Amino acid sequence: MLIKKGVAASLGIAIGKAHIVKEDNILIEQKEIPPEKLKAEVKRFKEALDKTKLDLDVIRTKILTVLGKQHAKLIDAHHLILQDPLITKEVPKLIMSKGMNAEFALSEILDKAEEQFEKIDDEFFHERKHDVFDVGKKIISNLVNSEKVSLKDLKEPVIIVAHNLYPSDTLHIRESNKVLGFCMDLGSKSSHTAIFAQSMGIPAVVGLSDISRQIVSGDTLVVDGEQGMVIISPSPEIIEKYKARKEELQKQEHFFHRLRGLPATTRDGHKISLMCNLDSAEDAPELAVVKAEGVGLYRTEFLYMNRDSVPTEEEQLKAYASVVKAAPAMPLTIRTADIGGDRATELGIKGLKDERNPFMGFRGIRLFIKYPELLKTQLRAIYKANTEGTIKIMIPMLSSVDELLTVKKIAADVKTELAEEGFAVKKDPEFGVMIEIPAAAIILDSLLGEIDFVSIGTNDLVQYTLAVDRINQYVSELYEPFHPAVLRLINLVVQTAHKKGKPVSVCGEMASDPFAIPLLVGMGVDILSVPAKMYLRSKHAVRSMNFEKFSALAQRALGLPTSDEIRRLIEEEVK
Ligand code: PEP
Ligand code: MG
Repeated sequence: MLIKKGVAASLGIAIGKAHIVKEDNILIEQKEIPPEKLKAEVKRFKEALDKTKLDLDVIRTKILTVLGKQHAKLIDAHHLILQDPLITKEVPKLIMSKGMNAEFALSEILDKAEEQFEKIDDEFFHERKHDVFDVGKKIISNLVNSEKVSLKDLKEPVIIVAHNLYPSDTLHIRESNKVLGFCMDLGSKSSHTAIFAQSMGIPAVVGLSDISRQIVSGDTLVVDGEQGMVIISPSPEIIEKYKARKEELQKQEHFFHRLRGLPATTRDGHKISLMCNLDSAEDAPELAVVKAEGVGLYRTEFLYMNRDSVPTEEEQLKAYASVVKAAPAMPLTIRTADIGGDRATELGIKGLKDERNPFMGFRGIRLFIKYPELLKTQLRAIYKANTEGTIKIMIPMLSSVDELLTVKKIAADVKTELAEEGFAVKKDPEFGVMIEIPAAAIILDSLLGEIDFVSIGTNDLVQYTLAVDRINQYVSELYEPFHPAVLRLINLVVQTAHKKGKPVSVCGEMASDPFAIPLLVGMGVDILSVPAKMYLRSKHAVRSMNFEKFSALAQRALGLPTSDEIRRLIEEEVK
């Protein structure tokens, strides 16, 4: 038996057999090709080139329709690389002269090209190096015909163990319905993979550093998503202990179930709104299960994942309309897609993949401002879905007044366009922004004239305030939502917004932390938006607290210099 400590990412206990998910890397092995088969090997290489050409044509058409001519030029450049004699002539030559397999010959040529590029001290040529490798990777994957074993094809209930899983992988996990729990070498509590696990109610532990190399598929595991532990080959006594804990957690769930429909009011009568976070339209039925008051954050970016084309207006309209239908007359806050960061997609957007620092890069509203067609399509679908007038629009990753004005101008254009087409927007949706970047918190007074509400995305606000990558396990101890700087920024947002009579919500993971809830409510936060699986638990935390008392404690906490002292102050009271 071996115990591995990591980060508790999603509540619950899972007991079952491990299933290791291999990384997406393609291993290129050298094989000797007998002389009589060399011509066939060259033919195989040429077929892979043809297939790559077709793939590029498909990508080019998509980029042309979605992003415009300017961006399609990248694919033209890739076409030229594909026709370069370095690839079309040198690789077949190497196959024939050295008896090499095509993949290996191509990788040899690419290695040589890399050496040449390294010698040229010119940024333009360095950029071209990435393009050459991009094309090379496409050819190799056509040669290897590598297909990642899809998580959605799992046959048995298993615990997934991986070096890293991407948010897009978690969609397959949902589809398979066979995943009891998961654990990863990488990741932290606020990584999108962890958030997704929580919204699916799958216990998860992340940041385990090397668990994927320590076990083999078939090993028995216990995933303790409460304590952030994984137990490898547990003894029968440990299994019994965890079965008992699992039952206790189920009993707790029953207890919380009784809170359905009751208001989120503190013991001394202070009412807040408790909303749900929604990661996909398929989760909408959960809203009725917990009797949610509304949706404070609908993350729409998952509509854009595991696909190589942008979701059309019709597709988006269908998704949004289905949520409106599942939760009629409820406030539904739709966030425009926050693509980028750890939610890169296959949309072929230049600059999105292979970013050196994705969380500081091309993400959220920055990307949509650069490609306004994407924003327009989404806004058109949102306006059309707003049949009951309860939809609100929320902008992620905003950092300046200019960005806000640009988005509002695009929104106004979309409305005019729809009116010209004979579709009159019935009711203007309320318009709000997420406060995730400290700059937005600091300049909030200048934003408020243009918006109806603000929602604090603490997952990102913590990351950007403390300069701690939210998915990097090596700095996860520095990722501290109770850091005085974070709390003071939250307080600044609440005070500034309330002066102008605008409501403040918190929709990051902090909103469902039983210790953070009294602090946030005590600071005056009006709305908490939490994963459906945490909804009734969070309501219990609100209903157990005393507002007067925690208002005073929040003020004391804001004067304390360290997160340890703040935690101690709050934890003593909450316990
Ligand atoms: C946040 O940053 O707190 C948030 C809710 O957005 P996301 O987790 O989707 O980045
Ligand atoms: Mg965020």
